[in-house]
Amino acid sequence: MSRFWSPLVHQLTPYVPGEQPKIPNLTKLNTNESPYGPSPKVYEAIKQATNDTLRLYPDPQAQDLKQALADYTGLPANHIFVGNGSDEVLALAYQALLKQDKPLLFPDISYSFYPVYCKMYQVDYEQLPLDENFKINLADYQRPNGGIIFPNPNAPTGIALPLGEIRQLLDNNPDSVVLVDEAYVDFGTESAVSLVKDYPNLLVTQTFSKSWALAGLRVGFAVGQPELIEALIRVKDSFNSYPLDRLALAGAKAAVEDQDYFKSTCNKVITSREKLTQALSQLGFEVLPSSANFVFARHPQHEGAWLAQKLRKKALLVRHFNQPRISSFLRITLGTEEQNTLLIQLLTELVNN
Ligand SMILES: *Cc1c(COP(=O)(O)O)cnc(C)c1O
Repeated sequence: MSRFWSPLVHQLTPYVPGEQPKIPNLTKLNTNESPYGPSPKVYEAIKQATNDTLRLYPDPQAQDLKQALADYTGLPANHIFVGNGSDEVLALAYQALLKQDKPLLFPDISYSFYPVYCKMYQVDYEQLPLDENFKINLADYQRPNGGIIFPNPNAPTGIALPLGEIRQLLDNNPDSVVLVDEAYVDFGTESAVSLVKDYPNLLVTQTFSKSWALAGLRVGFAVGQPELIEALIRVKDSFNSYPLDRLALAGAKAAVEDQDYFKSTCNKVITSREKLTQALSQLGFEVLPSSANFVFARHPQHEGAWLAQKLRKKALLVRHFNQPRISSFLRITLGTEEQNTLLIQLLTELVNN
């Protein structure tokens, strides 16, 4: 607290990201990063871009990357917006689209950045409880609102909403922006990008941090009709004209262009998810049906906080949320085969003692 702070700063409750400690031989299954590196073509592109042009500002329109994403999504480039991680894209969307007279709606168990942005941008909001199976109940969203936001698949549950239900939500809320945060969509969920051409009220965000293995590069994007994209551009250009540096633009573009590598790593994650789910179930864990690169699991006899702490002592990190309804769960990022085996080994010792 300081008398020098702007009044709003006193009221903020900043988001707390998963820890990034410097423990030797750490197995890091706590922040949903990819266990596989990015495509080798990304390194090559970043090397190529590392030259004298770094003295020049990057393209404020990020045209080349937008074109690559246009080709990837099958939509024109004026349907694409890029930013410094999808967190930044979300922040801009709050200011550009979701700050309305009526409250923004999102699930009670969801990405914990959503209420943080509400406070930051003074957006009124209502959190609607997931049902007893941790699913979004669409009927709850039939109430006056100034926008709707949720991750699909949801985080930290990993549970996906089918496309048909998203279509219904869009039909039922034609006067609100529905923002579908697809941070984990590439691990087996049908993307709402295919609905963008039919729905002027749909904005979809995706990130390079998970499926593209580029959390360190900070690139995210949004897909929507030009009317929505235009609002994002207006806010961005009132804040920071150059959110993506030259190396990020080059690296992200190379990643999108290497579809074979992308698909093969996503498939590896999906395969290991089925395997890990089975192993955890055999240990007595209840595992929610995940469509993400993590699983959300609890053991009937052991507290989530206790398990997380014991694993940490063995230099393996998972995420635990000290939050009503989910404090018994662990969110475990899928690692390499080797890392997942180590996890199961450590959990076997803990659960059987
Ligand atoms: C990881 C994540 C993001 C943000 O990713 P960036 O690294 O900022 O691109 C957004 N939404 C959800 C639900 C996430 O899990």
